[in-house]
Amino acid sequence: MGAMTLLRVESVVKKFGGLRALDGVTFSLERGEFLAVVGPNGSGKTTLLNVINGVYKPDEGKVIFEGRDITNMPPYKRARLGITRAFQVPRPFPELTVLENVIVGAIFNGGYDKEKAVEVAEEALRFVKLYEKRHQLAGRLTFNELRLLELARALAGNPKLLLLDEVMAGLTPTEIDEMAKLIKRLSEERGIAAISLVEHRMRAVAQLAHRVIVMHQGHIIAEGPPETALNDPKVVEVYLGR
Ligand code: ADP
Repeated sequence: MGAMTLLRVESVVKKFGGLRALDGVTFSLERGEFLAVVGPNGSGKTTLLNVINGVYKPDEGKVIFEGRDITNMPPYKRARLGITRAFQVPRPFPELTVLENVIVGAIFNGGYDKEKAVEVAEEALRFVKLYEKRHQLAGRLTFNELRLLELARALAGNPKLLLLDEVMAGLTPTEIDEMAKLIKRLSEERGIAAISLVEHRMRAVAQLAHRVIVMHQGHIIAEGPPETALNDPKVVEVYLGR
């Protein structure tokens, strides 16, 4: 494992009854790397994220974070290590302002004191371009703005690894592209690694990632830079044969 390796998933198998949702998955992730996980519906992408954040324990294999075996660690402890999930359906406190919502994230997940939390929260809101709306009630934001708020909340928690579960669903094509660019900037400017599941506008989003993993029936069938992975004949076949 290299010095830059943040996460290693090793020979992971996760079964649901007789179904092998993950059937021997191995890959590593570097610090600051933006990894897109693509694959048809039911290929195991969500299960993979759940094994990384601790919602599921694998039946076989290991999850290593910063050189430490976290395979049996519960989700809240992984969160403290800097493994943060941004939810597909954002769940803000609607009666709090945008800024207050992010402050909550900074205090509870980032461990900052109140004064520092305000500073971190404002900075996160500037990054996602919601700063102008910081005094609005979160309940009054548009759907796209809620997604950005969710990202700011995750960011304020001082993550090392962001797990993004279909954050693009329900957005317009332009909004999806903007969200993907924001994730890329997170990795390149902040050194935060990100694993994003990609279904919507798959090619456009995956092109922005540093690396792409393509899943099919619980296996990684292709992996590499976007151009290489997406044009692999096995991948083309899986997508055409849907
Ligand atoms: P994806 O995110 O790529 O759509 P999933 O990881 O959600 O795929 O699912 C992979 C396979 O595991 C699918 O066949 C799905 O039906 C099954 N599966 C996922 N979660 C569960 C569960 N909690 N119980 C039983 N089967 C599940």
